[in-house]
Amino acid sequence: MKTLSRFFSYGEALLGIVGALLFWLVDATIEKYLIGSTQSYLDILLCPGTHEFRIRLLATGLILLLVFIAALLLRRKEDSEAQMQHSRFLVEEMAIKLGQKNERLQVEIAHRKAIEQRLETLAETDQLTGVYNRRKFDELMNLELRQEPRYHRGLSLAMLDIDHFKEVNDRHGHAVGDAVLQELARLIESTRREADSFFRVGGEEFCLITFASNGANLETACEKIRKAVTEHDFDKAGHLAISIGATQYQDGDDYDSLFKRADAALYKAKRTGRDRVVIV
Ligand code: GH3
Ligand code: MG
Ligand code: MG
Repeated sequence: MKTLSRFFSYGEALLGIVGALLFWLVDATIEKYLIGSTQSYLDILLCPGTHEFRIRLLATGLILLLVFIAALLLRRKEDSEAQMQHSRFLVEEMAIKLGQKNERLQVEIAHRKAIEQRLETLAETDQLTGVYNRRKFDELMNLELRQEPRYHRGLSLAMLDIDHFKEVNDRHGHAVGDAVLQELARLIESTRREADSFFRVGGEEFCLITFASNGANLETACEKIRKAVTEHDFDKAGHLAISIGATQYQDGDDYDSLFKRADAALYKAKRTGRDRVVIV
């Protein structure tokens, strides 16, 4: 019954009943005025013969059945439309949620990338001076050494060491010594050529990976840096000097052989009076 009332609401049932009553009226009218029955109109309408009554009952049943089927079809159509509307709403809601989730993920990815970038920078940067550290030096030196036999770019290594730096610390304190290291790094970073890479590899020792077509050119490039340092005023520490030992890549060189030769050149520069460039 519940199912029936769900498909066949009061309005539709009333429509069926009105339809059936109308049929009774039309049938009585036809019998009275077209066929010309002698009975009164009310008698024909309310007290039909058995045969007439059966026809009217059958017609009433048919009308009710038709209205019921029409209502059922209409209800089904409405239900499926409502279901489709609901599904559409759910899909839209899901799309919005997915969009929001995607946005949050993009933000998270960007955040993680920034952290990764920051960690990478930290791992290859000297904390005091902000230039590349020893770790980055090893990495880049090995990379250049692998490429040099093929590209012949005139790979060269220069080692730089501040002369009598201990005296700066002793005379002015460690903080002034630190400031000198920072200032020197900034100065050489602004003096070096674009293709060069500059590193702090130890306390007051720095390296420069550079490219020169021959020894004379390498010496000129190193002299430019040495001169820039001697001419610079390091505030409280005043004027300082650096020694530079440099060497060019030779066939068969590896990290150790190139490093050893540059180190020997620096040692020679120190031994022969400091504040100079030695190329070997
Ligand atoms: P040389 O001309 O032979 O190079 O003499 P030097 O005094 O520069 O060399 P030495 O090796 O005798 O002394 C290096 C000094 O550098 C000693 C050390 O305290 C100082 N030093 C190393 N790292 C730092 C640092 O990060 N900050 C400061 N302020 N000083 C440092
Ligand atoms: Mg020194
Ligand atoms: Mg030293």
